[in-house]
Amino acid sequence: MRKKIVAGNWKMNLTLKQAIDLVEELKKNFHSGDKVEVVVAPSFPYLYPLREILKASAIELSAQNMHWETAGAFTGEVSAPMLLSVGIDRVILGHSERRQYFCEDAGLLAKKVKTAMDHEMQVIFCVGEVLEEREAGRHFDTVREQLEASLHALTPADWSRMTIAYEPVWAIGTGKTATPDQAQEMHRFIRQVVSGMAGEQTAEQIRILYGGSVKPSNAADLFSRPDVDGGLVGGASLKPEDFLAIIEAAL
Ligand code: PEP
Repeated sequence: MRKKIVAGNWKMNLTLKQAIDLVEELKKNFHSGDKVEVVVAPSFPYLYPLREILKASAIELSAQNMHWETAGAFTGEVSAPMLLSVGIDRVILGHSERRQYFCEDAGLLAKKVKTAMDHEMQVIFCVGEVLEEREAGRHFDTVREQLEASLHALTPADWSRMTIAYEPVWAIGTGKTATPDQAQEMHRFIRQVVSGMAGEQTAEQIRILYGGSVKPSNAADLFSRPDVDGGLVGGASLKPEDFLAIIEAAL
């Protein structure tokens, strides 16, 4: 039985005060860490202060990104050892906004994944097609290519720290959600691809999250599908009542 994960990707939002208020509210109301894994991914400057606040809670923290090198002349970047030194051992990689606005391609993402795995970090790796690819019937090929191009070098130990998020780009921040059937169909396909890459046991164990306009009104339906192991939530993770309702839907 795979434990569900509900992860909140805050993107480039909130002031420190707003971030603290949000996690205080989550901490006060979330007590089911034994049933569902809850992760929030704030911006870099808030990771350390929030780590302190969340120390005695079941809520985990993740970075939204990191560099593939461990140190050096990379102005403005943050490395795996830096994250680990402030108690953060999780990172989201391959988000479509990173691919689209920061030109992160499959080769670069493979380097980031390798660095994260070499540092024994947990990774949420995002994949997903754009609208034109879905309309052209290419969505399965796109997702397979994204998985194979960046995750081909993972060892069995690496796979045990990997979570995949299927995020159709046309559903992110648009209010349009994949139907539960569309999500289930793609998640099943992703499990088959992972099986081909890493074996059946790994494919059965890996958690595959759905992301793209998850909200309280659609979460339960999405999470009820057999291959949907939770969600990566953007906009709705900024509102404590919505995020808590989505967590509730995963219980
Ligand atoms: C995301 O950023 O990963 C995301 C899924 O955003 P939203 O829930 O706002 O569509």
